[in-house]
Amino acid sequence: MRIQKEIQRLSQQLENYNYQYYVLDEPSVPDAEYDYIFQQLLILEKENPTLLSANSPTQKVGGLALSKFEQVTHQKPMLSLDNVFEAQALKDFMLRAEDKSDSHNITFCIEPKLDGLAVSIIYKEGLLIQAATRGDGKTGENVTENVKTIKNLPLKLRGENIPPLLEVRGEVFMLKAGFDKLNKKLNDAGEKPFVNPRNAAAGSLRQLDSKIAASRPLAFYCYAVGVFEGELTNSQFERINQLKAWGLPVSDEVKQLTGEQACLDYYQAIEKKRPDLAYEIDGVVYKVDNITLQDKLGFVARAPRWATAYKFPAEEAVTTVENVEFQVGRTGAITPVAKLKPVFVGGVTVSNATLHNKDEIKRLGILIGDVVIVRRAGDVIPQVARVLVEKRESQKTEKIIFPVVCPVCASALERIEGEATIRCTGGLYCGAQRKEAIKHFSSRKALDIDGLGNKLVELLVDHKLIDSPAHLFDLTATQLSSLPRMGEVSAKKLLNSLQMSKKTTLARFLYSLGIREVGEATANNLANHYKTIDALKGASIENLQSVSDVGEIVAKHIYYFFRQTHNIDVLNQLLEAGIHWPEIIQLAVSDLPLTGQIFVITGSFNVMARSDIKSALQDLGAKVAGSVSKKTTTVIAGEAAGSKLTKAQDLGIEIMDEDALLILLNKK
Ligand code: NAD
Repeated sequence: MRIQKEIQRLSQQLENYNYQYYVLDEPSVPDAEYDYIFQQLLILEKENPTLLSANSPTQKVGGLALSKFEQVTHQKPMLSLDNVFEAQALKDFMLRAEDKSDSHNITFCIEPKLDGLAVSIIYKEGLLIQAATRGDGKTGENVTENVKTIKNLPLKLRGENIPPLLEVRGEVFMLKAGFDKLNKKLNDAGEKPFVNPRNAAAGSLRQLDSKIAASRPLAFYCYAVGVFEGELTNSQFERINQLKAWGLPVSDEVKQLTGEQACLDYYQAIEKKRPDLAYEIDGVVYKVDNITLQDKLGFVARAPRWATAYKFPAEEAVTTVENVEFQVGRTGAITPVAKLKPVFVGGVTVSNATLHNKDEIKRLGILIGDVVIVRRAGDVIPQVARVLVEKRESQKTEKIIFPVVCPVCASALERIEGEATIRCTGGLYCGAQRKEAIKHFSSRKALDIDGLGNKLVELLVDHKLIDSPAHLFDLTATQLSSLPRMGEVSAKKLLNSLQMSKKTTLARFLYSLGIREVGEATANNLANHYKTIDALKGASIENLQSVSDVGEIVAKHIYYFFRQTHNIDVLNQLLEAGIHWPEIIQLAVSDLPLTGQIFVITGSFNVMARSDIKSALQDLGAKVAGSVSKKTTTVIAGEAAGSKLTKAQDLGIEIMDEDALLILLNKK
């Protein structure tokens, strides 16, 4: 009685899932959950054969022909496929097939399992006359007009010996790129996006208005022949090749292979290739190649005995969000991470999933305690794909509160307008950013500390000898020699280069601080503009924007950086340690080396951008004009210079190429 009830419960659950999946094209649970319940029901029915009903979901091809479409009766039933989930089960399937044949090494036609929906297409005298969905396997929906809009499908076959009647079976699917575009469009229009490309394909094909289907990026690959008149080859693989020769689209990945190892190798190889394929596949279909043997093997209620689908590990699973923590990345980005009840997905046990940022939390509408679908595809970081709001128990859920200060160093957080990421502003001080900050500080374009490579920085931090760039200057020979692979000589050398690095330029020093988006050029401009660190520290966001190349975002990064007490502390420690630079002296304009000269720039340049050449010349006192005249002193001519160069030549004006310009700028 108890078992009977359980069988009824599982069947009912599968019926509901089937309805949502096949009729509404809107699954409420991941396939893995469905497959798991399906397997449970199969086991119970196998153990209790008397309780097996002909109406059980395990005995039927899922799906239903919607009454809004004209119904089509399939002359030959369209079946589903049995599944295996591990190599041993595939080997067992192969052995069973071999048992029915005379040979011990039978050949298989191996095909990618396309993730779309099955369609039957009938060609009469080479012309497409009818297309239908699989429906419940016996009756499908007439979707001829919609199928005719699929771009890679011929309305008329070409080539020779085309049978008077030919039923082609295959999969209608959506390319990954098209799916992403479609969902973006639906999102932008405030409409509900599709859960996956399979449902998008099914939802697009089962539209009464064929204009909608036509606007969707659908594609078709065929993988079988249904009914036909006339003669066809006796090999599944050759039949597919024949369909291709008649102009029908076929996946390039279809192979004819013999032997267990070759069959298993194909699975491994295509699993690797999967992320690069233009379409979704969810496994590999193994079909006995010989059609006579196929007929001999026959079929059970819902699937043939001569084929099976070896599915990839599920990429989605259902679990619960137990908490949300906030991680600080090496560059200060704060990432919310969902702590999950551990779940097996994409071949590994997953207990964390990234929630990316605040916007994503809002988009998902996720709460702590929610039941969610987690997705892990290939090596991609696990993500929360969807919240199962219908499973939410409000007394068990809690809002996610974003921190107001950095969870590692308590510095203020900043979010620049237009950016999704929230960041810690304690760049020089924050424990999470420490290693990167010190590596940057000592790099070649910054303080250029010879002998202090990335590995050594990691070692120094890991051994707790330093926790900010300022501590580098407190290091002693004894401390350094205590490190692995660090002899006395290298320790001395490093102390020496630390000493040497103290004499630098203001521009290098500013660059070394690692302020976000302050690269070498900006550091240079800031140094030239403010001349002292105090002047820069005191500058307002508006004032900062008067520096060339500094826009609002960069100005804000600089401003907030100098508002953090932690950063200021490290800065002061660095200055106290003896870092210094020669003062930048403002020359009067009349004293500048190129004062009074007029330059014209033309052509294209390899090393410097045209705008940089212009400002470099202006910094040296020159005027930069747009056209050549008698007053022009020099024309800087890059590659493919045109009429300006000719004019300069005519007027006998000095012409300089990029190399000569670089020499001039260097000298001055
Ligand atoms: P299936 O998708 O496991 O396999 C059969 C189908 O595979 C065929 O009908 C055909 O459409 C397709 N196929 C792709 N490539 C093929 C090839 N080369 N040769 C032959 N067929 C190929 O079976 P199904 O009956 O269509 O669907 C059952 C599956 O659908 C379940 O295992 C489950 O994963 C999913 N499902 C999910 C839900 C849900 O709620 N999430 C509900 C129902 C079904």
